[in-house]
Amino acid sequence: MNSMGPTYHIIGAGIAGLACAYELKQKDKNIHTVLYEAGERIGGRAYSYEDKDLNRRLDNATHVIIGANKNMARFINHNEWENLTYFWDVEQDALSSQHQRFLAHIFKSMCNTPPSQIARDIIRKILWLTFPWTRKKRQIYYSKQDLSQKFANFFLGSVDELKLSHKLLKIDSLFGRAAQLNFNSEVVEIGPDDVVILALDNRNYAKLFNEQELAHHSIINIVYQTSQKINLPKAASFVGVINGLSDWIFINDDILTVTISVADDAPADLQELARLVWKEIDKLRGVNSAFVPAFKVSCHKHATISQDESSNAHRPISAQGRFPNLFVAGDWTMQNYPCCMESAYLSAKRAVKTIFKIKNKI
Ligand SMILES: Cc1cc2nc3c(=O)[nH]c(=O)nc-3n(C[C@H](O)[C@H](O)[C@H](O)COP(=O)(O)OP(=O)(O)OC[C@H]3O[C@@H](n4cnc5c(N)ncnc54)[C@H](O)[C@@H]3O)c2cc1C
Repeated sequence: MNSMGPTYHIIGAGIAGLACAYELKQKDKNIHTVLYEAGERIGGRAYSYEDKDLNRRLDNATHVIIGANKNMARFINHNEWENLTYFWDVEQDALSSQHQRFLAHIFKSMCNTPPSQIARDIIRKILWLTFPWTRKKRQIYYSKQDLSQKFANFFLGSVDELKLSHKLLKIDSLFGRAAQLNFNSEVVEIGPDDVVILALDNRNYAKLFNEQELAHHSIINIVYQTSQKINLPKAASFVGVINGLSDWIFINDDILTVTISVADDAPADLQELARLVWKEIDKLRGVNSAFVPAFKVSCHKHATISQDESSNAHRPISAQGRFPNLFVAGDWTMQNYPCCMESAYLSAKRAVKTIFKIKNKI
């Protein structure tokens, strides 16, 4: 316990953990927040880093937010985010701007799950959140660069103490309450009025409690660095690719990024895949060149949980953890929501709301 009052111990410095600190401070700026993170940086699955090979700052993956994601969308400076979308059918070599025709493609990327397998309640939730299908709600924005700066670093202002390289290994309980947090680097006693919020990804949550992890799907991200800005047809800044190798193409000055969702069956040779994807981009641009610019390709093997019926059924229905002073947050903890930055944020909001509801009852 802190001399000012109880301490709020938040474990996991992804968007969910960071947003917990932010939401707690919105409730009361005198609340004491301590954020513990296993790794050496904040942001979890949404961060930027200095890339030595391409010699510039890159996002780990281009992150998209739709206008209907109203919690995350309010942090966007709309001038810095692009929202001009076209869809390109590779087989028919045809461009279209009609989002409605490509809902399956959008849903696949939103849920990182084959469209036919997405849980019905998740589809219902997306439709409920996005309809009426207004222009504002259907806007699709993507981070042009420096994702950390936009979110993680902003939320960090609400963290009183940040403890990196703190991996939580075990929670000890006493009299039915979480009593001690055992990290790899220190043991932290939990005061009688303290609160613990676990904002972990599903795999690490399952490891902590020796549970079965949920199924996951991969996402491949390819970053090409071109000598000058690439122009796509219709001056599109990002394009949904139908019947192709890639799913989305994003332009950011001399950087062109490609995302491939549900990439579990991707070939082992990712370098070759990146070269083939560039040929696809050449086709879209109507050029025929043997040249492939410098690129960086990465496969995020456990990018998100699979959002199928079975996984959805095993996701938490509330923020209450297994002890009265323990709460959960994280994109996967919001049953019926697509796993994304918005659900990570919403889970933080729900955790803080639940904590205060209980506190106000006592
Ligand atoms: C390639 C890729 C592309 C994506 N594209 C989009 C997109 O376009 N739009 C979108 O909205 N979302 C996208 N997402 C999903 C989005 O990034 C995640 O939904 C969101 O960042 C999850 O945040 P989180 O805080 O719930 O979890 P995480 O970001 O996973 O944070 C969990 C944190 O807990 C830490 N941790 C784990 N175990 C422990 C432990 N034992 N002790 C201490 N710390 C621990 C981890 O190191 C991590 O920092 C994408 C994800 C990937 C990987």
